[in-house]
Amino acid sequence: METLLEVDAISKSFGGFTALSGVSLAVSAGERLGLIGPNGSGKTTLINCISGALFNDAGSIRFAGKEISRKKAHERTRLGIARSFQIPRPFHSMTVLENLMVPFAYVGGISGARAQSEAREILAQMRLADKADTKASQLSQVELRKMELARAMAARPKLLISDEAMAGLAGAEVDEVLKILFDLNKLGITIIMIEHIMQAVMTFSQRVIC
Ligand code: ADP
Ligand code: MG
Repeated sequence: METLLEVDAISKSFGGFTALSGVSLAVSAGERLGLIGPNGSGKTTLINCISGALFNDAGSIRFAGKEISRKKAHERTRLGIARSFQIPRPFHSMTVLENLMVPFAYVGGISGARAQSEAREILAQMRLADKADTKASQLSQVELRKMELARAMAARPKLLISDEAMAGLAGAEVDEVLKILFDLNKLGITIIMIEHIMQAVMTFSQRVIC
């Protein structure tokens, strides 16, 4: 399998505190990779460095053969890296569909009818189609999580990084989100899953990194 993402010896410090030290990993195109570790072990920091929310201090990050570690977050999004946030921050007073219009406009420069029809397609993939016109403030926890994944999918990513998308969900809801991630992977999207729910990680991942 061709390597899609190659993280080589990256480090990241906050002041005098070292969150990441010499972290390396490689992810193949199409892979389902689990990433586990206790709270505070640096998982989100690693994702922030890969997605461009933070710049790593040392080491390199290559995506689809290109060095990306000095590219801005929106450039990395355009190259095909998307991530969901551990703590969803939806626009509460906007509908689900309107929430999705934001990344469409931002990433793809798509708006209007075309963005709406693509957004509805993604909502259907997420089994959220019936909530398109519901205000985000009215959503349940699992629906919010699905909207967060939908938002990441608006960028049509090659790599989707899911940062604890199942935190706080009940058993059946975990299975629902798992199924969605499996379906996205079947469409060819490479997925890194960060999760504390061990059964979900073990079911989903072809390989787990600790
Ligand atoms: P995880 O996602 O594995 O729980 P994090 O990557 O969120 O871990 O955090 C790793 C460590 O880095 C923690 O000790 C956290 O407090 C620290 N940290 C993360 N982000 C920042 C930041 N922006 N500024 C200062 N410290 C941070
Ligand atoms: Mg985290």
